[in-house]
Amino acid sequence: MKKIVALLLAIVLLLCGCGQKGADASGTIFCMDTVMDLQIWGSDADEAYTQLAQLLRSLEQEWSANEEESAAAKLDQQDAELTQEQMALAQKALALRQRTEGAFEPRIYGLTSLWGFTTGQYRVPTPEQITEGMQSTRWDLGAVIKGYAGDRAVQLLQAMEVDRALLNLGGNVQSYGTKADGSAWVIGVRDPKDPNGTVGNLEVTGTCSVITSGGYQRYFEQDGVRYHHIIDPKTGYPSDSDLASVTVVCTDGMTGDVLSTALFVMGYEKAVAHWQQHDDFEAVFILKDGTVRVTEGITLTGGSCEVIGREN
Ligand code: ADP
Ligand code: MG
Repeated sequence: MKKIVALLLAIVLLLCGCGQKGADASGTIFCMDTVMDLQIWGSDADEAYTQLAQLLRSLEQEWSANEEESAAAKLDQQDAELTQEQMALAQKALALRQRTEGAFEPRIYGLTSLWGFTTGQYRVPTPEQITEGMQSTRWDLGAVIKGYAGDRAVQLLQAMEVDRALLNLGGNVQSYGTKADGSAWVIGVRDPKDPNGTVGNLEVTGTCSVITSGGYQRYFEQDGVRYHHIIDPKTGYPSDSDLASVTVVCTDGMTGDVLSTALFVMGYEKAVAHWQQHDDFEAVFILKDGTVRVTEGITLTGGSCEVIGREN
């Protein structure tokens, strides 16, 4: 069913011409459970497009949370052989877990599978099941794999010497290079309350990841209660903060992806404190009451927002 919806979406995107804004190679693929829109400029754009689509599909296969053969499953086995790249990803994930004081928990499969977010067979677990799920140390890198894919895509585009690219990896936007006229890349920030609306446009320059996590992205409802897909590892339940979404702008895709998830779990105050203590990202916070607040390095046009300073 999800695939059919995504296919329809892909067709709509194509009909709107969203995939063909003058890029030398462009198109839409369904990968990592989402629709991805790829646009590449440069003389080798066609070949780069083919290789990029291949790379994204191979990463999907390599890291799928459910397959016993996947790298995520291998991380759970003592004697499994991992590539250097896979070990580096796992180590970086653990370092980011520490940085976010466990708000990002790469070994969260016990909980995400319990709620059915890894399979789509949703259910509300009992408190006993939650306690049990919290004991598990199985890996689930769903919160980082698209950001990591953005980093790998940049490496590929660089190696192929394309001029520039704009990749929408299912809500994770990765820009590469500078636009021909030197102007900024313009990326809409979705209004959590309106699937078709935005709260404004982010302007970013150069190679950059723009990544959003929100409670509206994936959820199910039971007995009138909405349960979304971002779990607070400390409670085992979907995180319940004052935030409706967090968008992170970061030069490192994987770090940005971790942060969007982790800041969403932390809630507004802790998230701002985290930004004040680090200088490798900027963020747009949309609170549940609809207020939009941006860190001072953000340029947001076409909408109203409050600016957060370093010394608040
Ligand atoms: P999306 O993948 O929808 O863009 P995220 O990047 O925020 O959104 O990742 C959410 C996914 O990460 C969930 O579907 C789940 O597999 C996993 N996850 C949920 N909560 C956490 C958490 N606190 N830490 C790490 N991974 C999580
Ligand atoms: Mg994420």
